Amino acid sequence: MEATTDRFIIIGGGIAGLCAAIGLQSIGMEAHVYEGAQKLKGIGAGFGLAANAMQALAYLDLRDDISKLGHFLDSYNILDDQGHILVAPDTKSISSNYNQDNFAIHRADLHQFLLGKIPAEQVHLGKRAISFTKEKELVTVHFSDGSSTTGKALLIADGVHSLLRQQLIPESAPRYSGYTCWRATIDNSSIQLQKSTETWGKKGRFGMTPLVGNRIYWYACINSEAQNPILKNWTTRELLANFSDYHAPIPRIIQETKESDLLWNDIIDIAPLSQLAFDNILLMGDAGHATTPNLGQGACQAIEDVAVLIDELKKHTTLSETFKNVERRRLARVNYITNTSWRVGQIAQWDNTVLINIRNFLMKIMPNKLKQSQINRLLSVDFMKINANEKH
Ligand SMILES: Cc1cc2nc3c(=O)[nH]c(=O)nc-3n(C[C@H](O)[C@H](O)[C@H](O)COP(=O)(O)OP(=O)(O)OC[C@H]3O[C@@H](n4cnc5c(N)ncnc54)[C@H](O)[C@@H]3O)c2cc1C
Repeated sequence: MEATTDRFIIIGGGIAGLCAAIGLQSIGMEAHVYEGAQKLKGIGAGFGLAANAMQALAYLDLRDDISKLGHFLDSYNILDDQGHILVAPDTKSISSNYNQDNFAIHRADLHQFLLGKIPAEQVHLGKRAISFTKEKELVTVHFSDGSSTTGKALLIADGVHSLLRQQLIPESAPRYSGYTCWRATIDNSSIQLQKSTETWGKKGRFGMTPLVGNRIYWYACINSEAQNPILKNWTTRELLANFSDYHAPIPRIIQETKESDLLWNDIIDIAPLSQLAFDNILLMGDAGHATTPNLGQGACQAIEDVAVLIDELKKHTTLSETFKNVERRRLARVNYITNTSWRVGQIAQWDNTVLINIRNFLMKIMPNKLKQSQINRLLSVDFMKINANEKH
């Protein structure tokens, strides 16, 4: 067993865990990351970093470097399967209202950058946490290789399937959304995609966005039972057949995807929890509030968690009070996002033609002001503010 106890143990080297380690380091606190995988590289897919995440990164002093890795998103439209616009949020006014831009970034680029900010001796790979025990002020985490480590605080950031969360809250198993998803990044040299869009149609949803380095990130979601054995074996050939009558350049993007780059997984989240802080243990990122990806906010919320944690740690209260304050400031927001994203996903995945026609009609005629107000709430950069009713 390792002897140093005056430090933070972080389980999981995803965005939440790595950002937390960097944040703690920035305020002079020692943190060690324990990651189950043998190698940390970030998967071959992209994701959006919205204005709120950029604000949190600014608080952590990471924004300028990370924005250089991202592709600036100057528009994001929702389309029907023939390419007609259903919703066209005013991203320029969003950027100027929040004084922050929206970016799309490749996961591997972000991982590499974050990892480079943490001393190598503080990142422990091949360490799969299986349980923890508590004794007085200390927490000990036990790993599958028989080793263990002890620290003064435990940040659980091991993602949606978190074993440690399930030790704390046994009923918090992931729930399946009803749709499954393929993702890939491809070269953009011949397609020259300029805009970010998401297409809603009877045969599923298709999203695409340009990335830096002349690449495209795309994803496709189709309704299905969980772990469908047929869909599991789909290749780009079956995907192409499914989306063949969708607007350009969707079929071409699928055609240009290398089989080996295709990622597939069911879309899951966890039903909103009522607690994130347990004395000197805190749930962070997907481990505490995994959300479906429909609002593009999962990683953004993980980064917000870290900004709020660092803000609270600067107040020098006890760890238990600090983590409780983080929970007070985070719970309503992350639960709102999980619930809203779940509902958006249900509507976006409708496959009944009559319902689709009604939905598309309503989306087109919905006043811009109303559409914008929903987006404003998501991108709220007020997450750092402490509301009176959130104080004890
Ligand atoms: C299809 C899709 C699209 C998405 N798009 C977006 C988007 O556009 N914008 C956005 O903000 N978010 C998006 N997300 C969500 C985003 O990917 C997640 O919210 C984010 O990756 C969560 O980061 P995390 O660090 O909390 O968890 P993870 O990224 O899951 O990292 C957890 C880490 O813990 C490790 N681990 C797991 N178990 C153990 C263990 N027992 N012991 C030690 N280590 C362990 C894992 O190997 C992993 O490295 C999307 C998600 C999906 C599925």
